[in-house]
Amino acid sequence: MTVNYDVIVVGAGAAGLMTAQRLSQIGLSVVVIEQKPRLASGPSTRNEGWLHRGTYHAVSIRDRANALQVARRCIYGHKQLKAFVPEAIEDTDKRSIAILRDGDRLEDVISRWEDANVSFRQISPLAAASRVPAADFSRAAALFEVNDVSINTRLLYRKLLGTARVSGCTFLVAHRIIRCEGLTLELEDPNGGHLRVSGQRIVYTTGAETGYLFTALHKVEIPVRYWKSHLVVTKRLAPMGVFYLDAHEAAMMHHGEVSVIGFNEDAVLCDVRGYNVIPDRAKNLRQGIRKIFPSWHDPDAMDIACVKVDLVDQEDAARSLNVAIREPIPGHIVALPGKLTETPYLTDAIVAKIHDAIDDDLISARPCDRYAAASAMREIA
Ligand SMILES: Cc1cc2nc3c(=O)[nH]c(=O)nc-3n(C[C@H](O)[C@H](O)[C@H](O)COP(=O)(O)OP(=O)(O)OC[C@H]3O[C@@H](n4cnc5c(N)ncnc54)[C@H](O)[C@@H]3O)c2cc1C
Repeated sequence: MTVNYDVIVVGAGAAGLMTAQRLSQIGLSVVVIEQKPRLASGPSTRNEGWLHRGTYHAVSIRDRANALQVARRCIYGHKQLKAFVPEAIEDTDKRSIAILRDGDRLEDVISRWEDANVSFRQISPLAAASRVPAADFSRAAALFEVNDVSINTRLLYRKLLGTARVSGCTFLVAHRIIRCEGLTLELEDPNGGHLRVSGQRIVYTTGAETGYLFTALHKVEIPVRYWKSHLVVTKRLAPMGVFYLDAHEAAMMHHGEVSVIGFNEDAVLCDVRGYNVIPDRAKNLRQGIRKIFPSWHDPDAMDIACVKVDLVDQEDAARSLNVAIREPIPGHIVALPGKLTETPYLTDAIVAKIHDAIDDDLISARPCDRYAAASAMREIA
């Protein structure tokens, strides 16, 4: 027996959960297939939990136009997530501190922030030191209060799951896809039983698995690259987020009693998508932490590694931090958010694309829809 849905979502990380929730909420029947027994067990949970506000990406991406686009998408995602799940936003009563080491960039940084609508207020070293007495700000050329915050991703995913279920979405966890015929997937359940699900569209939000999955199921190669980066999990170091804007410096966000710290531009291209830690990289990051907190000492600190993916057409292209939506086979849509913060932007685009493709006739077409349909017909003729 085959169970029919409007949309099948494969993969329940941040992107899959939000896609499923949003499609269910517009009244489509949706099933989510997750291969692991728990939802969002990959990068969506192994990240820093930094709800970006455009501050970092407006500055760190070399190409100005691209940087501003990513920053604006982050600002949009930040606002959407704050409104959807206010209970998951941490330390809302404090503003993070952004540090700029390279004073030559000050004018460009401020001009980019103004263009992208990033909120910031320059503060004195004395003001920064009074907020975080244990930190060493002596290498800073400029310091700013900014609106980046931490997000408790477990609470976000709990709410996405709950609201998707209320809208009728079905979740099949620990299910393995065995084969695909057209828009029908054959699955194996955790007990070895088989079932078939069919959709008008299949959305693959499978992160680092996307390339392997497409090769296995469709014999189609997806140009995915893997970028490994590291984090340190340690006891809480500061009352608010503290991060450098410069490359090869530390950036930290906090979750309750714990700080999670990353290293800017630490990502290294790798062949495999595993989570093993590269010792030299972890060491660099620890040195970066000591450059802000010279007396940091935590024998229990944990090094973790995780993999980001990007989708590129040229192998030598710069690492893309942007969202990607592709339809390599008609009806099969691949979606990657770039960052957790960009997931609302990504899911808006997917919902619009799918709504357009599988809309029923109950709602009137706009004149521009009729025009576009007529043009398409003319092209076919
Ligand atoms: C070290 C690091 C730190 C980061 N920090 C931040 C941050 O602070 N802020 C931010 O905004 N972004 C951050 N990011 C980026 C962010 O974590 C990712 O962009 C986002 O989580 C990707 O979500 P996703 O749903 O696309 O993928 P994933 O989280 O990878 O989810 C994919 C899901 O698909 C499932 N799956 C895969 N294959 C199959 C299959 N065949 N069948 C069924 N299910 C399948 C997987 O099990 C998984 O649950 C960070 C990334 C890294 C690596």
